[in-house]
Amino acid sequence: MDKNVSISVDWVKELIQKFIAGSPLNTMGNDAGEPAWDSALVGFASGADPIWQQYKEYVGAFHWTPWEIFNQHCPGEKAVPEKLTVISWVLPQREMVRKTNRRARKYPSEEWARIRVYGEKFNVALRRHVVQSLEQAGHAAVAPMLTPNWTVVISERFSYASSWSERHAAHAAGLGTFGLSDGLITARGKAMRTGSIVAKVSIPPTPRPYADHQAYCLFYADGTCGKCIDRCPVCAITEAGHDKEKCRQHLVRSREYVKETYRFEGYGCGLCQVGVPCESGIPVKAAREALERGELPPPPPPLA
Ligand code: SF4
Ligand code: SF4
Repeated sequence: MDKNVSISVDWVKELIQKFIAGSPLNTMGNDAGEPAWDSALVGFASGADPIWQQYKEYVGAFHWTPWEIFNQHCPGEKAVPEKLTVISWVLPQREMVRKTNRRARKYPSEEWARIRVYGEKFNVALRRHVVQSLEQAGHAAVAPMLTPNWTVVISERFSYASSWSERHAAHAAGLGTFGLSDGLITARGKAMRTGSIVAKVSIPPTPRPYADHQAYCLFYADGTCGKCIDRCPVCAITEAGHDKEKCRQHLVRSREYVKETYRFEGYGCGLCQVGVPCESGIPVKAAREALERGELPPPPPPLA
């Protein structure tokens, strides 16, 4: 083992990109053998960032801070929050996959459903790969979503919520803000999947280039758009936000459709992620241009 290798931003980005380029698990599972993903956005957040405590207060006591989940699974390491880094990535949907789902009106395209199953299998493997690679380099790490005690909790405020949210980790790591449909709008849009791990490494955090947690959504920025409301086949999105239970029930129904139509065990929807202005980029012009110029807004207020 190559112990105590110094871990840098570039080391992590290269690790992830090489896995995308070389892993046989990067597949849509179709006859053509097409890859599920072709690139990733990667961001970093400190374990001592106050945002983790804000999440806990906002979502519920069951929502882990990086320190809690790391020390549950690596008790021998005795790491303080300042010694931890959350590594988060976004896997943007490929153009071809987005295009097929744009035509969908009720249930997902075959390509989209394949990504939901096979693309996420790769995402699971990527979490394991990053953890194992860090361990081989002498740095303890854990993938919160893969721990046996990760769970979904019934929540009065949110219908249900989980003990670790990949989208919230990505938001903390500077990768995007939330939209009306609850999805995370990133520099490559909302049509994506995301993953993260917590490691005992010291990597400079990625600045959060947004003034608040909804800055990239047109509806919250200037009261326009709302296109995701029209895209949802079961009216789970309104001006009041996203009805998680309605959405979940539609996903359950999609299983039968996917099996009968595409002949594999899968599910999905994602209609609100395509055919909308935030599909593949940041639709709020001022925010997009500020990001391109590398400008940072003043620190955002706490979540309310
Ligand atoms: S479609 Fe429009 S309203 Fe919906 S999340 Fe995207 S930018 Fe916001
Ligand atoms: S909110 Fe749920 S059911 Fe509605 S379009 Fe989005 S993923 Fe589909």
